[in-house]
Amino acid sequence: MRVSRYFLPVLKENPAEAQIVSHRYMLRAGMIKQQAAGIYSWLPLGLRVLNRIQQIVHEEQERAGHIPLLMPTLQPADLWRESGRYDDYGQEMLRIKDRQDREMLYGPTNEEMITDIFRSHVNSYKDLPLTLYHIQWKFRDEMRPRFGVMRGREFLMKDGYNFDVDKAAALHAYNRHMVSYLRTYERMGLTAIPMRADSGPIGGDDTHEFLVLAATGESEVFFDSAVTELKLGNREVDYDNREEVAAVCKEFTTLYARTDETHDAALFDAIPEDRRKVARGIEVGQIFYFGTKYSEAMGATVVTADGSKVPVEMGSHGIGVSRLLGAIIEASHDDKGIIWPEGVTPFPVGIVNLKQGDAAADAACEGLYKALAAKGLEALYDDRDERAGAKFATMDLIGLPWRITVGPRGLANGVVELTSRRSGESVEMTPEAAVARIAEIYAAI
Ligand code: ATP
Ligand code: MG
Repeated sequence: MRVSRYFLPVLKENPAEAQIVSHRYMLRAGMIKQQAAGIYSWLPLGLRVLNRIQQIVHEEQERAGHIPLLMPTLQPADLWRESGRYDDYGQEMLRIKDRQDREMLYGPTNEEMITDIFRSHVNSYKDLPLTLYHIQWKFRDEMRPRFGVMRGREFLMKDGYNFDVDKAAALHAYNRHMVSYLRTYERMGLTAIPMRADSGPIGGDDTHEFLVLAATGESEVFFDSAVTELKLGNREVDYDNREEVAAVCKEFTTLYARTDETHDAALFDAIPEDRRKVARGIEVGQIFYFGTKYSEAMGATVVTADGSKVPVEMGSHGIGVSRLLGAIIEASHDDKGIIWPEGVTPFPVGIVNLKQGDAAADAACEGLYKALAAKGLEALYDDRDERAGAKFATMDLIGLPWRITVGPRGLANGVVELTSRRSGESVEMTPEAAVARIAEIYAAI
């Protein structure tokens, strides 16, 4: 993409309404525009990151054997009357009437609808296990929408639902979700700690929230600092192997890590003092096992191997897809702007032409742009007739992890400069070597 042809409405001034750094940088980098309280348009740069995050979520869900579908945003109220949640949900639910005076709502979550799909089509244990998920917009009429996409009213969520014949199988699905989430967040460059949490209005017994530590987080969290050292890395996990998946979960949930709702002072005090941490965190996901809460209320049953008919065992599992942009920026920025991890960056690399109009510099930039494209890497090429300082400031603000700087002086010696956004270090090399280096970095992502 060439900046001269792109839509990148960067702001010079700090927007007054933004209280936290991620919101400020998302507005300044031209990623989002607020349309109403807690409701945003996704401008091209923001959309690219949102799409990257969705792609990682899809890849990791499919790796775990979970199946995508797509349910609508609008739902009939009657479904929610079956579970009893239509009246319970309160003012967070946006209720709408259609022209026939039928009561509808903009879905805040999808347990009822997925249970309805299940009961319409599945009735045998032979069709289980089954986990269906989608990435879809949700609406919750939050009392205090704030911090940009972090607490929106309309927001994008991945929500998945498992259906299993018995509790042991459902707990395996729960564990599968935990492992797939750990991998998902790590690919986004995040450390998200599973913490034992409270189940709230979804209901149920077992639940963990995934928290990214950040001073601006809305949750108070208590943990053993050793938990922050745990990494899943590139290990291969066989998602069908119950023991193996359970062992990974055990590794990540044995050290003390809880939100304030489930905090236990006595257990916390047993942690060696230098590892006892109280901090703030951003909730980027949550998994629940709730058994037959919805299947009993809505008549979703399966016939088991011995011929008896039982309500299906379920759980639900969510990732805050749009909130993740805010969480990633809170975790990865400096005073010049965002620093995108390679896994989610809107463009893998930026090209800055120091002297637009100089024949050699223009040709070298074009050559780099095409050579990168040939390797499947779409660079953001700043081809505007602007001062170098302004181009650098924009690149730093929008946070591409790598920048190639091209100028007549370097070219006279056959070199361009490759700069890491994170470390600020620059290395001179030939254009070919720069392309090879970038390709090598992204091949490993
Ligand atoms: P919170 O406690 O932050 O209000 P929640 O526990 O009500 O969230 P869940 O029902 O667990 O939310 O939804 C799954 C995920 O969706 C959350 O972990 C969070 O990342 C995201 N999410 C929830 N509410 C919002 C919101 N208003 N704006 C953006 N993302 C949200
Ligand atoms: Mg939650």
